[in-house]
Amino acid sequence: MALLETRGLTKRFGGLTALDGVDIAVEEGELVSLIGPNGAGKSTLINTITGRLEPTEGDVHYAGTDLVGMEPFEIAQLGVGRSFQTASILPELTVRENIQVASFAAEHGSFRVNFLRRRDSFEDVQARTNDILETIELDSKAGVEAGSLPYGDKRRLEVAIGLATDPDLLFMDEPTAGMSPTETEMTVNLIDDLLEEWGMTVFLVEHDMDIVFDISDRIFTLHQGELIAKGTPAEIREHPAVREAYLGG
Ligand code: ADP
Ligand code: MG
Repeated sequence: MALLETRGLTKRFGGLTALDGVDIAVEEGELVSLIGPNGAGKSTLINTITGRLEPTEGDVHYAGTDLVGMEPFEIAQLGVGRSFQTASILPELTVRENIQVASFAAEHGSFRVNFLRRRDSFEDVQARTNDILETIELDSKAGVEAGSLPYGDKRRLEVAIGLATDPDLLFMDEPTAGMSPTETEMTVNLIDDLLEEWGMTVFLVEHDMDIVFDISDRIFTLHQGELIAKGTPAEIREHPAVREAYLGG
């Protein structure tokens, strides 16, 4: 059975159908990428799976659990993480503190930390924080105020905040957007570590086709809310509908 499966996933915003009956299945340990032009519904797909948006129709199953109607933090507690937007970084806290806050929040379901349980789990959180700092290559900046980090480091800190919830499946929405080539390379290496060393399943939305075709096990293609193709990079490259809609013929 697939780790994640959607059936007929549909999201309408008023008269606009942002997702139209999307069926996808993701196997454990895979790196899948979702591609499609701006406005295709990529972020909406992530948001409906992770509980930010409620689907209009359709099902989402993760490891046998029906996710529809669950709160985002409940879905995160099941092991579904996402790399958050910069808005989730607390700029006056250090890099380390940002990860710790996210770890505590993950364990306790909210930012209202239960101080009795906190003492029990403090060492776990420390150990996890150190692992994460090393993986995202921010260990040398652990004590730096998050707000003062350069752009690429901030984006990797967002990934770190996503990792703090200890996910088995991680969604990343355009993690390299706006990055320099060096920052992009670090992010690609990071994704590689998540798969190879952390044994994670990764669901990537990425606009850089060189990266997508290079690192993905399988690729899903959305066009105007519809899944028009799915397959290996080689299959997608040759897919007539994808070439026409997205790769420019
Ligand atoms: P992508 O991530 O592929 O660029 P989105 O999922 O962000 O596309 O958007 C898909 C479509 O849904 C777009 O037409 C967008 O304007 C619309 N949309 C996304 N979120 C909302 C929302 N919260 N309310 C209304 N329309 C939305
Ligand atoms: Mg988007």
